[in-house]
Amino acid sequence: MAANPSVLITGASSGIGATYADRFAKRGHDLVLVARDKARMEALAARLRDETGAAVDILQADLTKPEELAVVETRLRDDRRIGVLVNNAGATAPGTFTEQAADDVGRIVTLNATAVARLASAVAPRLAQAGAGAIVNISSVVGLAPEFGMAVYGATKAFVLFLSQGLSQELGPRGVYVQAVLPAATRTEIWERAGIDVDTLPAVMEVGELVDAALAGFDRREPVTIPPLHDAGQWDAFHAARQAMIPGFAQARAAERYRTPA
Ligand code: NAP
Repeated sequence: MAANPSVLITGASSGIGATYADRFAKRGHDLVLVARDKARMEALAARLRDETGAAVDILQADLTKPEELAVVETRLRDDRRIGVLVNNAGATAPGTFTEQAADDVGRIVTLNATAVARLASAVAPRLAQAGAGAIVNISSVVGLAPEFGMAVYGATKAFVLFLSQGLSQELGPRGVYVQAVLPAATRTEIWERAGIDVDTLPAVMEVGELVDAALAGFDRREPVTIPPLHDAGQWDAFHAARQAMIPGFAQARAAERYRTPA
């Protein structure tokens, strides 16, 4: 694989994805941008070609449509120049679970979970065979906090975190770096698209600061990067508490509390 491989970024037409595109182009990488809004990607590509000299391809795709997702999967499978996948496209829907239509629930899961897993699946075997490359998955702190009242969105982000950790276990020893990035509220269009005024939130990170912090974690090969978490020891303690349970899972008998009448 080339020293500076091409980077395929989903959801590259705005927000975090467009900012990743800017930063990777400035680091000397060629790009493949994926999203639905071709005009916005054309404008971004033109700027980046002009400013950085990067080669920028555009793949217009709605990742909730199987036939369009398949085109991106094929590109990831076959284009040996691509060595980094940034699985960033994601969305939520307005309202609580009982207010969201079943089709909205399905669309959130398809975009935020199914597409993420399928795109990782398309590229992982080739990267593992090359013994190099990276998969960056954009999760969210919402995936750690059911208290935030975003049940389906949060569930997909917990999925992305778990998937990343699982892939890291499997692919890390084979030379492929996998990173989960967990932003908290970041100033992008996702809020407006979900019917929320971002300025009503208590604290909002600017998108450039978020992506630069995520890339600092990338350069350190962190498996999990949480830019807004100031006390890194809290994540370490959480991780350690989870790991401490694991040896206890191997039991032939149910726990005592379930063997006595309520
Ligand atoms: P954004 O500005 O709304 O960007 C979302 C991107 O996803 C856009 O490029 C959009 O492009 C693309 N997209 C949406 N639906 C798509 C579809 N069906 N097929 C293909 N592409 C689609 O929001 P963002 O904040 O940058 O979001 C990026 C990621 O960060 C998401 O996974 C989000 O969950 C995560 N995140 C954001 C925050 C935050 O506060 N902003 C916090 C935590 C995590 P098109 O409309 O052109 O398709």
